[in-house]
Amino acid sequence: MQANSPKYLFVTGGVMSGLGKGVVTSSLAKLLQLSGHKISCIKIDPYLNYDAGTMNPTAHGEVFVTEDGGECDMDIGNYERFLNQNIMKLHNITTSQIYSRVIDAERKGEYLGACVQIIPHVTNEIKARIKHIALEEMLDVVAVECGGTVGDMESLPFLEALRQMRLEEGPENVIFVHVTLAPSLDVVGEQKTKPTQHSVQELRRIGIQPDILVVRCSLKLEDSVKKKISMFSNVFQNDVFSCHDAKHILEVPQMLYEQGILGSISKKFGYGEGVIEASFAQWNAIVDSFKQSSSEVKIAMVGKYVKLADSYVSINQALHHAGAKIGKAVKIDWIDSDELNGNIDRLSKYDGILVPGGFGSRGSEGIISTATYAREKNIPYLGICFGFQLAAVAFARSVCGLADANSTELAAQTKNPIIDLLPEQKGVSNKGGSLRLGAHEIEVSPSTLAHKVYNAEKISKRHRHRYEFNKEYQKLLLENGMIFSASSDEGKRMEILEIPSHKFYLAVQSHPEFSSRPGFPEEAFLSFVSACVGAQSSAKLLKL
Ligand code: GLN
Repeated sequence: MQANSPKYLFVTGGVMSGLGKGVVTSSLAKLLQLSGHKISCIKIDPYLNYDAGTMNPTAHGEVFVTEDGGECDMDIGNYERFLNQNIMKLHNITTSQIYSRVIDAERKGEYLGACVQIIPHVTNEIKARIKHIALEEMLDVVAVECGGTVGDMESLPFLEALRQMRLEEGPENVIFVHVTLAPSLDVVGEQKTKPTQHSVQELRRIGIQPDILVVRCSLKLEDSVKKKISMFSNVFQNDVFSCHDAKHILEVPQMLYEQGILGSISKKFGYGEGVIEASFAQWNAIVDSFKQSSSEVKIAMVGKYVKLADSYVSINQALHHAGAKIGKAVKIDWIDSDELNGNIDRLSKYDGILVPGGFGSRGSEGIISTATYAREKNIPYLGICFGFQLAAVAFARSVCGLADANSTELAAQTKNPIIDLLPEQKGVSNKGGSLRLGAHEIEVSPSTLAHKVYNAEKISKRHRHRYEFNKEYQKLLLENGMIFSASSDEGKRMEILEIPSHKFYLAVQSHPEFSSRPGFPEEAFLSFVSACVGAQSSAKLLKL
């Protein structure tokens, strides 16, 4: 369907953070996509960081890397997974990006002597960014999620810009969806409406009347509660939707669809009632695959940022995508590598071990021991980025006799720098946006595990690293049984390592988790989880 002018669906949040605004935005975008619209999503992050690259994942969740090398908020990952479509870095707008552009324009004299102000200069820049994406990508609809909670000081310029857009683009082209919470103090308790009332009041105070309310609650929102919210919020009762707890986030589009949210959106966008009919068959088959697991496979994820599950959200999802594909539920235990030394045998009860990305020396010895343990005990191992680098260090130490082998990231003076700084990184002091980022082509050698996994000579994967395997050690490691089965940049960089004598020992310099999608698991994850299932059955056989 080709709209005359793009439509904008703005999603704001009230009451508190962590309500699942990202899931609601992704779900609404999915419904519009399923009903034949060309759609994409934008995430506004009102914080002052230029991008998410310098943020600690345990405080803010993972840094999601886009094809074009953006270090983005993890919601971009949700959008990609729901829509099964790539989203570029311009879609993650932050305060710094807007202000840098405005300050730059002012220095260049582009404002012709005007006094530069939040309104109109900052708000104009915000609107221009959003409209540019909609027009450039020829979208029918763009869903824009404004991060933070209504009432936050830093989100005010963004909400003001969105308010102006309704005036400029016309009410038939702009819808405001507000996500709030109706808490109940115990499971059977009354659903409280006051937080929603207050947050809508706050929104209206800055000039935005929401068209649709999506209310988070544990049990389905009762009609009497909807009625009350409707009256106090000045939103029609049919436009108040319940977003209650679901077994899986992928069920949310269907949940909202069944309550008629598409009809509501369609009417407001002037598509006419009943014009949109979502076609759910393929999507539902995928959602169902997550519910039909016969048994469980247990995976230990040994990393540095395990205190917050969101630190590795794409890896968790990728493992679940793989499990769903082969009918297994994946049970992931997050283990802090810092607390592992002296206690490594606790890994023996797992069907597989995964070591994700990481930075810095804390917990690195625990990771090195983990890589060695998986190798010695023949437990399937998947290493990602840091998990690739430290698997090479572990092998050099315990198999090649280089007891002091290390990465120069962890021990700058090591005599055996198995992992070293990328040559082009020497002299780079800026920490933001300066790693080797985004998608790079990788050549896979024939007759290797990597080739079996990918069934292709050339693949493309997203990257985020500053260090790499030092090729001077390649021959020594090869002589001892570790092969490098894929490379990039004309053989300059090693991308995948494996140990052919092992059940499944594969580690990749890239981040394959960012390209895994529900129904379409990334190949390394699928092969790894399949190997874990295989290991489980052979362990059972041994016990019989
Ligand atoms: N710290 C390592 C590097 O910079 C690994 C990065 C990562 O795991 N993403 O190369």
